[in-house]
Amino acid sequence: MSDCVFCGIVAGRIPSTKVHEDELTLAFMDIGEVNPGHVLVAVKPHVENIYGLDETLAAAVLQTAARVARAVKKTYSPEGLTLYQANGSAAGQTVYHFHLHIVPRYEKDGMNLTWPVNNPPREQLEANAAKLRAVLE
Ligand code: AMP
Ligand code: ZN
Repeated sequence: MSDCVFCGIVAGRIPSTKVHEDELTLAFMDIGEVNPGHVLVAVKPHVENIYGLDETLAAAVLQTAARVARAVKKTYSPEGLTLYQANGSAAGQTVYHFHLHIVPRYEKDGMNLTWPVNNPPREQLEANAAKLRAVLE
């Protein structure tokens, strides 16, 4: 897609700092960097979000993510590592081309993702799961 930043990076029209490239995925440094070693793993074809990933692409992107995560661990020995992936603006997505963030983490590094813990009754969880099972492909 001509106006997509990550398509531009994949095509080489937009500069990037590459970590790994294969047939289906590209891993490069996040220009915004939470911590050193913050890498984005993108799929090469223009797929907007997780809903458009086929099995081959889904497998490829997680394989690359696991390899890059091990490299980050070896290089930086972070206290932790977060995989972050957003779909839609409500979820925090700002670039609409599927990518995973690999973020080395440290106590009090300023990255926060908090959510309410509602602890619904088991019947509610069962009802929710039944709805999902009914449409799972
Ligand atoms: P998200 O909010 O999950 O869609 O993440 C988009 C990420 O892409 C942000 O963390 C940006 O810092 C990063 N980003 C945007 N443009 C570039 C670029 N040209 N090169 C590297 N990273 C980028
Ligand atoms: Zn794209």
